[in-house]
Amino acid sequence: MSGTRDALWRALQEVKDPEIPTVSLVDLGMIHRLQVAGDRVTVEILPTFVGCPALEIIRRDVRERLLRVDGVADVSVKFVYHPPWTTERITEEGRKQLASFGIAPPRDPGNHPLDIVPPCPYCGAEGGEIHNLFGPTACRSIFYCRRCRQPFEGMKPV
Ligand SMILES: [Zn+2]
Repeated sequence: MSGTRDALWRALQEVKDPEIPTVSLVDLGMIHRLQVAGDRVTVEILPTFVGCPALEIIRRDVRERLLRVDGVADVSVKFVYHPPWTTERITEEGRKQLASFGIAPPRDPGNHPLDIVPPCPYCGAEGGEIHNLFGPTACRSIFYCRRCRQPFEGMKPV
């Protein structure tokens, strides 16, 4: 079944975050475990934020995509909260994709424990302001860059 596992991971790479359509769930670090038993697949997903409203969309998208993989008859998607998802799980590729969508990737909280404002995704300037901690979704905040004088979105570090 190793061929199937590879095909499943490739298929998961095509499933994007419903709110950030440039970034796959894999690159967001949301796929905790993929189990294959015969023709049944179980995917354990770590929700990025508890209560993020996109969870049911994610469940549907993952199911629909994996059911198209050869040899898969049934897909079950479970949301698990242990271990908790953290922004450190986002891959290097995922951070690039976030920035290309105009969302500043979360900064490493280890280096900047008090500063949650990420560098500006447009000009790279540090020291932006918090404009609105609660952005268009619970997962994102709006910041304001003092250098290029425009607002930008960032993911809250968790
Ligand atoms: Zn800027």
